[in-house]
Amino acid sequence: MYFIFALISLSTFAHTLSHYPDAPLEIIKVGHPTLRLTAESVSTQEIESEEFQKLIDDLIITMKDASGVGLAAPQVNISKRLFVMKPSMFKKAEAIINPVVEYLVDYGTKISTEGCLSIPGKQFKVERYKKLHIHYQDRKGDDRFEKASGFRAVVIQHEYDHLNGNLISDIFLKSLNLEDDFEFVVPRM
Ligand code: ZN
Repeated sequence: MYFIFALISLSTFAHTLSHYPDAPLEIIKVGHPTLRLTAESVSTQEIESEEFQKLIDDLIITMKDASGVGLAAPQVNISKRLFVMKPSMFKKAEAIINPVVEYLVDYGTKISTEGCLSIPGKQFKVERYKKLHIHYQDRKGDDRFEKASGFRAVVIQHEYDHLNGNLISDIFLKSLNLEDDFEFVVPRM
């Protein structure tokens, strides 16, 4: 009798623990067309929906499972203006929805070495603004404003780029001035 009871309570406990057994969402990789779209805004009504709240939770689980500090909805093939981030190990993961970022150019830029969960195994040196302002909605749909700097500002810029179809590999190529700089000669047959 005791044995059966113990078995039942153990399985209940295990079920609670494995509510999210693995990363529930698949991260798409560079070359996938969704990564190139300008993501769509989200209505406050949609933010409040059960489905959207679950999407936020799933994104956070997927980000943590992949040891990332940020993950944008387009990276799981959902072209919406939403990303999650956890730039500090001492703070909870946050959802940033419908962000509008204003770069504070007067504070200058710095070079940041970044990886991306959609470009596995590669790192790129990219130029980032040191400070920025961001307006966004949190997961309750409330309007927020903040001035960000340091690593937090870097993560915001990386994820914000995803919402506009940009990847760190693009910024890297731009920094080499590889765009439209060459005259091609048609090979002679
Ligand atoms: Zn990325």
